[in-house]
Amino acid sequence: MKNIAVVGGGAAGSGAAYQLYKTLGSEASLTVFERGPHVGGRAWDLDFAGCHMEVGGVLFHSTGQMTMEMMQFTGSKEGVPSLSVDGKNETYAFWTDKGLPICTKTSLASMAFGILKHVGIPSALRVTNNAIKMAEKYEGVYKQLKEHAPFVTPDELFGALDLLEPSKISTADYFKQIKVNDRMAYDVVEAITHNMYNQGAEMNALASLVGLAGAGLAGGYLFVIEGGNWTLYDKMLKKSGADLRVKTKIDKISITSTPDGLRPYSYELLTHDGQTSTYDAVILAAPPALADLRIELDGKPFAVAAHPYQEVQTTLVVGDLRPEYFGQKPGKLMPSTIFTASSAPAPFKSIGTTGWSPEYNSRIYKIFSADHVMTDADLNAIFSVVHDTHVHVWRGAYPVLTPGIKHLPFELNKGLYFANALETFAGSIEVETVGGVNAANLCREYIRSL
Ligand SMILES: Cc1cc2nc3c(=O)[nH]c(=O)nc-3n(C[C@H](O)[C@H](O)[C@H](O)COP(=O)(O)OP(=O)(O)OC[C@H]3O[C@@H](n4cnc5c(N)ncnc54)[C@H](O)[C@@H]3O)c2cc1C
Repeated sequence: MKNIAVVGGGAAGSGAAYQLYKTLGSEASLTVFERGPHVGGRAWDLDFAGCHMEVGGVLFHSTGQMTMEMMQFTGSKEGVPSLSVDGKNETYAFWTDKGLPICTKTSLASMAFGILKHVGIPSALRVTNNAIKMAEKYEGVYKQLKEHAPFVTPDELFGALDLLEPSKISTADYFKQIKVNDRMAYDVVEAITHNMYNQGAEMNALASLVGLAGAGLAGGYLFVIEGGNWTLYDKMLKKSGADLRVKTKIDKISITSTPDGLRPYSYELLTHDGQTSTYDAVILAAPPALADLRIELDGKPFAVAAHPYQEVQTTLVVGDLRPEYFGQKPGKLMPSTIFTASSAPAPFKSIGTTGWSPEYNSRIYKIFSADHVMTDADLNAIFSVVHDTHVHVWRGAYPVLTPGIKHLPFELNKGLYFANALETFAGSIEVETVGGVNAANLCREYIRSL
């Protein structure tokens, strides 16, 4: 029986492990190394002010077939996002240098009306049609995974889906090309992508379109996993019989070739506490910039480019917003989510309700700030009342989504595969799972060739 190791138990590593279990079954034994106290990676939850909430990847989309399949496999159930507060006064606003020009109810019809009024019909339609077209093309990925040979690079996979072009130019340039006005590009789309990636119109256009489709522009609905998003991966890995080693960081992957080059490589993993074990193949399922591990080939460094990731501060605040801070009259009932444009005079990228504290009978807000640590002075300016706060820092929340970059391949070496290769195009929990599945398919072909 062949041995395969997966390094990293997030969506990508779990997707890879699931696919190997499904397609190799008893042909291979599987070990998953996860340095955290449990799997899930950037799907991470916590209890704060009497409320259970996700502080990393929150929302799954109903069109995500891999997630749906794993949910069925594990018997996991859909939960309602804790974005809704007490079921009342759910409203969205867009904040720009002109105040809150768009304030709407959260229904799609109400939002569409508010946005149309601000940006005009042509720009709104052009963006919506593009997001729908992109989502339709992306849907083809499941057919490609089933029917096509595994893809060696993410460019080949996105090329097969006809999605490469928008990844090569910035959102700003793409919208200029399709004649979308600045109000739509900056007041609306950029404000929405700030909420998702903490990045804006400088990002590659594919990432923006994926974000808009995921936000509901291309239909479907959003949900969380009941009991915590990470539990999906935990249940899946346990049910698949993988040898799951949590709190086990891999420090080094040593690849050994044979002098004649005729026999396969062997892979030795070194854990942080000094244990070694040897595998026929390895799937790396952690971004190199965050994994803090070395790879060597025959004792020499094996270079894998570490694409930069962006630090994001997640500041949770139980309290009441100060309307005057947002240019509103004192006493005004404030929106539950405020999509924040670059032109807004804010030290943060977005602010929105993320739950309801029964302890304080008050909304819990989540503030994303990319390079700014929210100070007490900031919070006292933004909130009229602050009951409690908590900060969660993501050392690397998202890759910097620069257009036209060189992306790492799925195949780093024969027997060494990279599950996160899609993320530098556009990441989401489902996209990462899909990347893991493709990496696993490559690994399966290699294992069967031995
Ligand atoms: C604040 C925030 C909000 C988000 N919101 C959404 C959302 O609503 N919807 C959505 O679809 N996506 C969202 N995302 C993105 C989504 O969470 C990620 O794309 C996805 O979870 C990444 O999964 P991954 O497996 O690729 O990486 P990770 O989740 O980072 O998994 C990598 C794993 O590898 C482990 N690891 C790293 N190095 C080592 C090592 N040396 N040895 C052993 N283990 C190691 C890590 O501990 C981690 O568990 C959000 C992300 C953030 C940060």
